[in-house]
Amino acid sequence: MMNNNDIAALFVEPACEHNGKHKTGCKPPKPGSTAGGCAFDGAQITLLPVADVAHLVHGPIGCAGSSWDNRGSRSSGPELNRLGFTTDLSEQDVIMGRGERRLFHAVRHIAERYRPAAIFIYNTCVPAMEGDDIESVCRSASAAAGIPVIAVDAAGFYGSKNLGNRIAGDVMLRQVVGQREPAPWPSDYPVAESLGHSIGLIGEYNIAGEFWQVLPLLDELGVRVLCTLSGDARFAEIQTLHRSEANMLVCSRALINVARQLKEQYGTPWFEGSFYGLREMSSSLRQLAGLLGDEDLIARTETLIAREEAFVQSKLAPWRDRLRGKRVLLYTGGVKSWSVVSALQDLGMDVVATGTRKSTEEDKARIRALMGEDALMMDEGNPRLLLDTAYRYGADMMIAGGRNMYTAYKARLPFLDINQEREEAFAGYQGMVNLAAAVCRTLESPVWPQVNRPAPWH
Ligand code: SF4
Repeated sequence: MMNNNDIAALFVEPACEHNGKHKTGCKPPKPGSTAGGCAFDGAQITLLPVADVAHLVHGPIGCAGSSWDNRGSRSSGPELNRLGFTTDLSEQDVIMGRGERRLFHAVRHIAERYRPAAIFIYNTCVPAMEGDDIESVCRSASAAAGIPVIAVDAAGFYGSKNLGNRIAGDVMLRQVVGQREPAPWPSDYPVAESLGHSIGLIGEYNIAGEFWQVLPLLDELGVRVLCTLSGDARFAEIQTLHRSEANMLVCSRALINVARQLKEQYGTPWFEGSFYGLREMSSSLRQLAGLLGDEDLIARTETLIAREEAFVQSKLAPWRDRLRGKRVLLYTGGVKSWSVVSALQDLGMDVVATGTRKSTEEDKARIRALMGEDALMMDEGNPRLLLDTAYRYGADMMIAGGRNMYTAYKARLPFLDINQEREEAFAGYQGMVNLAAAVCRTLESPVWPQVNRPAPWH
């Protein structure tokens, strides 16, 4: 089980800039810090997209039942990850100390009935407080079932969702990565093995299948994605991540510990990039080619960027006229706080403020670079503050996570969901066109003039 030292070590991530200053340590959990998602939730969100694994939640039904399959990650093959498995602990199980036995039988049942590539077991508050030894159950269940059974010990009360992300990444590093060699170079690949490279993408979740808008470009360049952690991933792919020549930390610094430790253990260089927005997409491709240090690849990447940018500019032209000068209040966290700013600016829109609740110092520096020194950054996003900001700065619309949807709707403000539950794919060059279309559709919906018109009796 995780002990206090293991958890404390994850709070002091050396690759985070603020830990290089005199005041060290990522924010420790405070009472109520699980309100935006507990550690179990974060661990589950990180690993649920691994499609050929059975994800078993060890705990009462509430832990699994209220959060299952709430993320729009897509799989191109197996969809075992969309089945919800839980040991469904009851009061009787707790009183009688039957938790470990139920867990063992659940693993055997899943292994016999579904034949998964592996089983991930997520610990939750009740069995963690009971002291269930899930790691020893995993060892005996793995021997009995003949497949890897891996404990993800991120019980909710350990801390916030971000801590859960890190625990999940740490478990993959310790127990999964490095156990298999990559498959041979595909014979039907557009580029010969001698010209090709293999990379890893950490923190890419393939929301709404958006990574499939980027993958064909990487294939064309001869850059094979060995593994994404964890969108559309397979267990065997994660086992090969140590063989990547470069890693891109895609969507969130929550898995920065994985990138940093892969560099320390295997010497794999990494960089932080984003596939959102024209500038960021091109910059990420350039950084990737630069990190791989292949002159031929760098030249081919420039050709591809020129072609794709010209294509997207022509597609965006009609949307730009309709979006130019529109004012947006953006409230999202982490990397999206700056990468979506960049994407909206690429469309000619004016971002009046952006959320920075989960952003790092580096994220904030990028926001200032994009929006200027006086950029309005919001550390808190309660409904009153969001609406006050929207009114004060004359925002035409709000782009935020789904939980802010009703705040915007009640204020009769056009709203677009940008978070992981969305159904639209915004990554890559094609993603820019999709984003422009979605923003236009939201802004120009005929419902807004109607709901903003005074009632006939006034
Ligand atoms: S793990 Fe704990 S905090 Fe998280 S949902 Fe379950 S009971 Fe709640």
